[in-house]
Amino acid sequence: APHSHQASHPTARFKVFNKRMREEALRLLTIETDLRRAVERQEMRLHYQPVVALEDGGLHGVEALLRWTRTEGGDISPAEFVPVAEDTGLITSIGAFALEEVCLQLSRWNEAGLPPPGVVHVNISGRQFMQPGLPYAVEMLLERTGTDPRALRFEVTESVLMRHGSQAITVMAQLRDLGIRLCLDDFGTGYSSLGYLKRLPVDSIKIDRSFVAGLEYDRDGQAIVRSIVSLGLHLGLEIVAEGVETSTQAEILASLGCRYAQGFLYAPPVSADDLAAMLGAAPFPSTGGGVFAGGSV
Ligand code: C2E
Ligand code: MG
Ligand code: MG
Repeated sequence: APHSHQASHPTARFKVFNKRMREEALRLLTIETDLRRAVERQEMRLHYQPVVALEDGGLHGVEALLRWTRTEGGDISPAEFVPVAEDTGLITSIGAFALEEVCLQLSRWNEAGLPPPGVVHVNISGRQFMQPGLPYAVEMLLERTGTDPRALRFEVTESVLMRHGSQAITVMAQLRDLGIRLCLDDFGTGYSSLGYLKRLPVDSIKIDRSFVAGLEYDRDGQAIVRSIVSLGLHLGLEIVAEGVETSTQAEILASLGCRYAQGFLYAPPVSADDLAAMLGAAPFPSTGGGVFAGGSV
């Protein structure tokens, strides 16, 4: 038929499909190539997102998050480049950069006379976590930079545990013995049994953003968060909710017994300088009403 579109022809469709695949492959290859030089070109830096105590709006800690601005080609989100870095093994050098940068930043803030930002959460990917000798390398880094291990908390995901089992638990125990605390990130998304949680040397869990997003509208969403929180509380873990965007979410979380939150409601991830301005500044909004209502009356 004269009006039929060319792309509906099977061969043409196949070509379109191929073209898209080729573009995707090319894009990943470009990311990989650029990623190889990103650290030495100083294109990577860290941003810090406040973790806030729900009750009084006080700054409880921060999460360090990688930011990559390519000299050519603009910003790429870590959600996109971290998986490429993980697949190619480049994550070990990028992760080492992030960890060292956190330690150096802690001493910069300290030298500037600023109060510490509380515990600094650092994301550690699976490959970086299982890299031989990680605990020793971390110990050396702490020594070299004069960093107090209690200032740090490493975030690992359930997938690391599911893939590496007892070996991962051994590494966790070694890090904990150094004095570094551990947090299970994206908690609840790993489809693993919750029973293993009590055997892990973690002292904190992060409720995944997807569950927080479901809090306001969805009964099931609330039930999930309620059980995560009560499980965490029973095990004596610190519970941080991630991706809190509305005060209603914060209030529901607080009412369920969750004490800490991070999200755009409080602050997005910000540069080290912008965070410095927040250190020692007024608290964030709180759910605890009374505490700060008094100050503002
Ligand atoms: P994550 O560790 O779960 O980090 C939380 C992500 O949620 C961050 O995305 C943060 O910017 C975003 N976020 C925080 N609050 C809100 C909110 O209220 N709403 C929404 N929509 N998003 C919010 P980001 O910075 O793009 O990082 C994405 C992921 O990349 C991280 O997820 C983490 O898995 C990985 N990543 C980032 N930095 C590092 C790093 O230094 N090392 C490793 N291994 N992975 C990293
Ligand atoms: Mg994280
Ligand atoms: Mg997370």
